[in-house]
Parts: sequence; C-alpha cells; structure tokens
Amino acid sequence: MKRLLSLCAFAGLIISCSPTEETPDYTKMSEEERLQAATEIAQSTIMVDGHVDLPYRMKVGGFTLQREILDVSVRTPDGNFDYPRAKEGGLDAPFMSIYIPAGNQKIPGASKALADSLILMTERLASTFPDKFAMAYSPADIEANFAKGLISLPMGMENGAGIEDNLANVEYFHKRGIRYITLTHGTDNLIGDASYDTTGTHGGLSEFGEKVIAEMNRVGIMVDLSHVSDNTFRDALAITKAPVIASHSSVRKFTPGFERNMSDELIQAMAKNDGVMMINFGGSFIDSAYAAGGAKVREHIVNWLAENNLSRRDSAAQTYISEYAAANNPFPTVQKVADHIDHVKNLVGIDYVGLGSDFDGVGDSLPTGLKDVSMFPNLIAELLKRGYSKEDIEKICYKNVFRVWKAVEDYAASQK
Ligand SMILES: [Zn+2]
Repeated sequence: MKRLLSLCAFAGLIISCSPTEETPDYTKMSEEERLQAATEIAQSTIMVDGHVDLPYRMKVGGFTLQREILDVSVRTPDGNFDYPRAKEGGLDAPFMSIYIPAGNQKIPGASKALADSLILMTERLASTFPDKFAMAYSPADIEANFAKGLISLPMGMENGAGIEDNLANVEYFHKRGIRYITLTHGTDNLIGDASYDTTGTHGGLSEFGEKVIAEMNRVGIMVDLSHVSDNTFRDALAITKAPVIASHSSVRKFTPGFERNMSDELIQAMAKNDGVMMINFGGSFIDSAYAAGGAKVREHIVNWLAENNLSRRDSAAQTYISEYAAANNPFPTVQKVADHIDHVKNLVGIDYVGLGSDFDGVGDSLPTGLKDVSMFPNLIAELLKRGYSKEDIEKICYKNVFRVWKAVEDYAASQK
C-alpha cells in the first residue's frame, strides 16, 4: 500500500490513481458478492461471442418485417438469445452465424444464395431496431456501438461452401460484411475435409482451399478452423499469413475421440500462430459423459415410444422424455466450461482463449447455469473464484479476439 501511495504521489495529476481502485480479492468473496462483481465486469467490459446461430433460428422462425413472427428485440419464450437477455448478461457482440447446411453443397448456387439471404436478414434485424442493434465490421465498430449501448451484429459465415467454386466470392462476401469464414461444416467441401466426415476427400485442405485462404488473408477475413478435420487444420495453419480463430470449439482432452474439438497439439499450434480458440458451451462439446449418456437416453426413448405406441409429439411422451433425460443424464454445469478455459490457459496461456457459445445452435444440451445469453456472469463468477483477474476476463471476453481481428485487418492493409 505504501508503495502504491508513493507511486500515486509521484504520478501526481498525470494519471488518476487511488488506493480505492486496488483489485479486490475475488476468491475471498461470498458467492453472492462474487456474482455481483462478475455482473459488473460483464456490464462494463465488451463481450464478444464467437458463434450465435440466431440468423438460422430467425429463418426457421420466419423473421420478417412483421414483428409478431419472431421478434428478438423483446424477450422470447424459446431460443437462447434475445435483446433483453443479452443486455442482462452483458453480451455486446455476438457473431451472427451465416450458417449453410452441408446439404446445400449438392446444388450449385444454393450455398451462396442462402448466405445472401441470411446476411439480408441480419441487416434487416439491425435496421428494424436501430435503437437496439447495429451492424459491425471491425473491432472499432464494436467499440463505437458499445459506447452507444447498442448490441453489435458482426457476421461470420459458417461453411465456406458459400464461396461456391468462385474465388471472387471471397472478396464479394468481405464487401457484404462477412468477417470470418468457417472453412467447412459437417461434410467435406471444395475447400477441405471436415471433422464429422470420414471420407477424406482431399486428405486435408484442397488446392482450391489454399487459394481461398490466401484470398481471405488478402481481403481481411478471419480463417475459422472450427469444424475442419485435423489435417485441414494443420494445412491451413501452415499457409495462413495471419492469425486464425476457432469460433466455437472446445478441448478434446475432455471428449476423447471427438475430432470436432481441438487436441492439445492443435491448441499449441494455434497459440504459436497467435490465434484464439473460442470455447463452445454445448453439452456434448464439454462433457463426454453427457454425450454418451445422451446416446443411451435416445436409445431408451425410441424403445419406450414403440412399447407404448406413442410418438415424440404426444404430450405424455414429452413429459416422460424430459423427466427421464433429467434423471438419467443430468446436464453439465458451468464449472465444466470453466474447466475447458482453464485447460487452454494452463497449456498455452490466457492470451489464446475466448467464448464461442454456439447459443441457438446446440439445442437444449447447454449446461445448468449457462442456458442462455443472460447467464454469462455465472461463468465469469466461476473464473473469478478460480483466481482469474479482471484483466484475464477482459482478454477472454474480447481482447484476444480483437488482437487476432486487428492482425487480420493489418495484414490485409499491408497488401494494398
Ligand atoms: Zn457449428
């Protein structure tokens, strides 16, 4: 304290500094005090989420200008995201997933057409509610929107199939506002192999995929390596000229054999690239016991429905299903998500981890205490309990992903 006081005296009027600004010891607080502190941090810090599947949910829910259909400017009874809940949770910049199901790849032009329509829908959300939402194309945009209390809607395209077979579409989508592209989704595409697909079409990144990455680097779109196979991951890291992201992937150590999550080797390689891995909250991403239990529950339910001559839609069946699932395969908890963050921090450091919830994209598998965007403070409180500092939390919430995003912008600027 003495040292701090003398430093303050020395600094005089140049910087404002007082002993009352000393960092509190969050680990010694009661649960209630800590949640309060976590909520204050969530509200005062920019919070970016790498992956929210709202555009596709709006498409399914029929968002149009007729507000009564699916209006996320007000509290919605289902889904994981809406404006009031995002405000409660302190979420400021959810990356809107412009999601293209792999099925579209079979029809030439269908992937780009769907991407275009989901981008329009996202823009329409911002223009319909300009006092609540705003588009964002850079960290600077997010900072400006945050200062005005607006929720930013940056966009990432989930599945590079939207580029079709035309390299010029990379620049086109940059102009349309896309700031990351997830190279693949569920199956191999023209760019490379996917983690859920065992075909091994290209053995990793294709020649076209190499050109796509070079073009993404040139125009300033972040390379997203969630969903790709390990070979594609390594190939992409070997040629990218700028840091990469994984917009919604968790740690494979906790889900052995689940290639959709990242192995320690890949986490280390990504840290060497100065990239950031944003942790997915989905139950099967964070807890292999939950994933295995889910499979068993599904098997039991199929048999039970047949024995009782019921369909999944019958209300008696729905009650039974939810009660049986809750009793036999309890949801993971928010602590599990913190375990994944801990693992990355301990393996490579605090500078390489962020949040990529997959809200609106992983059904009802989300952990207890992290069921929707209003509950981010529960996760922050858990991290504070484990000794994370406010600075650590800021890195996880936005500083790490902003570092990568700015490096990608800088590289693109250097190519002009
Ligand atoms: Zn996904």
